[in-house]
Amino acid sequence: MKSSDTLQRFIFEHAAIRGELVHLDSSWRTVLDRHDYPPAVRDLLGELMAASALLSATLKFNGSIILQIQGTGPVSLLVVECTSERTLRGMAQWAGAPPPMPFPDLVGAGKFVITIDPRETGQRYQGIVSLEGDTVSEVLENYLLRSEQLDSRLWLAADPHQAAGMLLQKLPGRDAADTDMWDRATHLGATLTRQELLGLPANEIIRRLYHEEDIRVFDSETIQFHCSCSRQRVANALRLLGYAEVQSILAERSMIDVDCEFCNQHYTFDKVDAEQLFAAANSSPPVSSTRH
Ligand SMILES: [Zn+2]
Repeated sequence: MKSSDTLQRFIFEHAAIRGELVHLDSSWRTVLDRHDYPPAVRDLLGELMAASALLSATLKFNGSIILQIQGTGPVSLLVVECTSERTLRGMAQWAGAPPPMPFPDLVGAGKFVITIDPRETGQRYQGIVSLEGDTVSEVLENYLLRSEQLDSRLWLAADPHQAAGMLLQKLPGRDAADTDMWDRATHLGATLTRQELLGLPANEIIRRLYHEEDIRVFDSETIQFHCSCSRQRVANALRLLGYAEVQSILAERSMIDVDCEFCNQHYTFDKVDAEQLFAAANSSPPVSSTRH
């Protein structure tokens, strides 16, 4: 099987409809290499990763889109991030070994959180809604319709080797012809099988579904796994904890150990590092530190 991690955008030439297909291959397996996910958790994570890549194409600036499902069921957290440079990462937290069960049972009465993080301005946007839908696709469709007024259809699938998704979205400026085309496009989209979505190249899917329509296909974009964690970021987080807290951790053990949950990168800070953290931040240690 050819390795491919691609995002393929397309539009319907004579209707206000845009489409995208994403196929994650080695980027998805890189995520799976980091943790041993139970199949039920794995498939949700793969679907959400595919969705984040699809939604990243709507970013109009450099930055990232972060999708989170915060659950109250066996799955307590799914977090995926895709940047405007088409790098992505993802991770999940769960309890026990949940057997395959419907999505609403896996996540319970949770929340869906979407964060748009423009790198330059730092003006984060965050939307939080309750989880509405029987699948990851439905949760996203409901969010896009209710919060963004965007009529969208998503098809998502994941297995141990790949994750894939298709998005159709109705653009503003709808007339009767567009509505007809939208109905036809989504009906045809619904005929796509899970096997086709996972196994076929984007161009082949577009050809099979829409060979009778006038479709413009853009250049495909490459997607890859990348984790944005760094020693610097961990250091910033420790500074936020504060000098006293960091000292109290170091009073109990010789090192502060931090593992990145996205990529398993291991960071350690010893007592000297910890002193430097606060010296480098140019913040004088709080008074309490002089007590001992
Ligand atoms: Zn990392």
